Amino acid sequence: MRPEKVYRTQAIVLRHSRLGEADKVLTLYTPYLGKTRAIAKGILKPASRKAGHLEVLSHSALLIARGKNLDIVTQAQTIDSFSLIRDDLGKTFAGFYASEIVDRFTEDGVSSYRIYCLLLDTLRWISDAEESSIPLRYLELHLLEISGYRPELSLCLRCRQPLKESTNLFSPALGGVFCPECGEEGTYYVRISVNALKSMRFLQRSGVEDARRLNVRDALMNEIESILRRYITTVLEREVHSTAFLELARKP
Ligand SMILES: [Zn+2]
Repeated sequence: MRPEKVYRTQAIVLRHSRLGEADKVLTLYTPYLGKTRAIAKGILKPASRKAGHLEVLSHSALLIARGKNLDIVTQAQTIDSFSLIRDDLGKTFAGFYASEIVDRFTEDGVSSYRIYCLLLDTLRWISDAEESSIPLRYLELHLLEISGYRPELSLCLRCRQPLKESTNLFSPALGGVFCPECGEEGTYYVRISVNALKSMRFLQRSGVEDARRLNVRDALMNEIESILRRYITTVLEREVHSTAFLELARKP
């Protein structure tokens, strides 16, 4: 049986790159095909009717034709353009970071409906929220878990005892926490406060509706952000580019 020549899918546009004079290659995250790439022909022409439906972060319904090498987007209709994200610089950078980190953690053609829903939930949350730090940490913790890098936040990695209510030590290399008796402060560990540990556990075990109720101080979110950044950088073995923009967008 020959495969269908065209297919319909929803997709979130993760990024795009220019191809020749008027075309772009889009990296898309879809519900059932995972991450995939497709060409948007003529999108850079001023009269393009597709352009507005295929911006980075757009959630769109697409009709795609199978191509020899890359598939081709033949129709695009916006489901949600996330205009509240686009109209706010800080939210835009947060949205770009969300799409970049999903891109970095995923392989072409490996489908994960959970990751699709996670990204969509996160973008909706960023769109609604006053600030983006908690939604991004929620995304990071769940992306780590789905990808097989769930950080151990309940038991000491060495003695396997439940962590006590004191400052413990997070190991970015091993992806978990050591109790003060088992870990030594130094370059291989990051101190993790009781409240940071509790908030991370809460985000880790909560669905998006519960997670959206979390309300914590900026200083605590900064601590969690820096712990997760060290861990994610270790996992990905290089910096996630958009973090530089997040730093720039941060209010003084
Ligand atoms: Zn221990």
